[in-house]
Amino acid sequence: MITNKQIAEAIFPNITLTIEDLEKKYPLRNLPKGAEVTRFAPSPTGFLHTGSLFTSMVCRKVASQTQGIFYVRLEDTDVKREVAGAGQQLLEQLRVFNVVPDEGYLGEKEKGSYGPYIQSERAEIYSIAVKHLLEIGLAYPCFCSEEDVENLRLEQEKLKCNPGYYGEFAKCRNLSNEEKYQKIKNGEKFIVRFRSGGNHEKKIKVIDLIRGEFEIAENDQDIVIYKSDGLPTYHFAHVVDDHFMRTTTVIRGEEWIASLPIHVQIFDAIGWKKPNYAHLPLIMKLDENGNKRKLSKRLDSEAAVSYFIENGYPPEALTMYLMTIVNSNFEEWILSHRFEKMEDFVFSFKKMSLDGALFDMGKVNFFARELLAKLNKDEITALAKKYADKYNPDLAKVINDNPSYFTNIMNIDREKANPRKDFERFGNMLDIIGFFYQDLYEKEVAEGLEFNPKFSNEDLINALITIKEQLSFDHEDEQSWFNNLKEIGAELGYATSNKDYKANPTLYKGNMSDLAEILRIALTSRKNAPNLYSVMQVLGKEESIRRIDYICSLLKK
Ligand code: GLU
Repeated sequence: MITNKQIAEAIFPNITLTIEDLEKKYPLRNLPKGAEVTRFAPSPTGFLHTGSLFTSMVCRKVASQTQGIFYVRLEDTDVKREVAGAGQQLLEQLRVFNVVPDEGYLGEKEKGSYGPYIQSERAEIYSIAVKHLLEIGLAYPCFCSEEDVENLRLEQEKLKCNPGYYGEFAKCRNLSNEEKYQKIKNGEKFIVRFRSGGNHEKKIKVIDLIRGEFEIAENDQDIVIYKSDGLPTYHFAHVVDDHFMRTTTVIRGEEWIASLPIHVQIFDAIGWKKPNYAHLPLIMKLDENGNKRKLSKRLDSEAAVSYFIENGYPPEALTMYLMTIVNSNFEEWILSHRFEKMEDFVFSFKKMSLDGALFDMGKVNFFARELLAKLNKDEITALAKKYADKYNPDLAKVINDNPSYFTNIMNIDREKANPRKDFERFGNMLDIIGFFYQDLYEKEVAEGLEFNPKFSNEDLINALITIKEQLSFDHEDEQSWFNNLKEIGAELGYATSNKDYKANPTLYKGNMSDLAEILRIALTSRKNAPNLYSVMQVLGKEESIRRIDYICSLLKK
């Protein structure tokens, strides 16, 4: 008579450690009461999804708020999907968004005594656990080929019953130990399945920290826990890792709710304490037909956090926006805290909405504008430089060629009660400030200038030359500069009072805003530009005169 133990031994002859050894090696954590241990468990597929950043932020927050531990575990058991260097990159990207783990896989190294934190390095641990389940009869080797499983599916389709490997359909479940033993000894290929004691007709009660208690069908599938490559499936790795890493709260995407009955069943069957679960709502997007769909890696550039990094968004703009999805009271809180000290916000699972939030780029931009407007000229210069040196050679060139000129541009309408809010990101900064640089200015001029057609070229030249000759370039302040411009306007026949102009428009060439527009277009090539006085201050007298002459020469042609 072959025993379960002999089967386990035949499968894992080299595994000598036991579950008890693991319990000793990974003792319960010594943390203050109420401290939560959370984890972020990404797969290294070369891509940090915006939804995963959202999840990791919640994990970080819950641990920080309870003086607990937040760790990262790299889930690389799906060898086919793995991209080289992706784990490291994930950690770097998390750091950009200030999601810094206390423990676990940290990219270049590991930290903590509950490791290894890379699943592919935990093969022995899973084997010990699988061996244990084989010994206590909760698992069995399955010798069915992929073809057998496919045939089973076709048969079930014909019979119109639930698909899967369960109950009477679970062929290998009922093999005798003698048969199993013989097959193993014959070198037949196998995987290991969990022996489910569940009934799909029955409902179990589960608790989710966001949804509260709800009912869900019990698992009756004999799921695969150990694959032929010697690694576990997600389901089993989750149970084993979160048990031995002593996770208290599993925070993960809502797509895992459907597998919760499997996880709960395995924890209970082995007799391990279950962690708490919080399944976070998915981030959605409206498709072209107005239907909600999941933010997709394939279709939506904003699904990858790299999009925000490469386009030079201030990282907090994204994290603040994601916090507004995390907790419904966050937005009001951060507004009243003037976009500062986000880390002081108190998070609660209760204030999380269950409807998948629609990703709102407009709101990310709003936070970005507010955050960039708060910086002083040196801070924004430093950030722009840091971004540009890494991601934007054109911007890097203009900054590095003349840093103080760039800082002067940044200083326009900054550090005042109503600062300028036209920057959202550094990626398109040159589109906004390009005209300050000669070659970009000339390029824009070549694309055409939109002077008001009511003025002839002669009018324009006349206005510009007079300004050039009569406008003083060393005014103390904007008011005296404008008074000077008004005098010139009066001499040129422009109305200096709008009221007069409205009453008798035919008496004048135009009003002061017409004149200012002529000057603005000549100096910046644009109708809309920041404050003209500041623009002239930054350009300086010489360059302003050069531009006026340049435009006049073009108008003469
Ligand atoms: N590796 C899984 C994923 O990337 C982790 C899910 C979990 O947090 O348990 O979806």
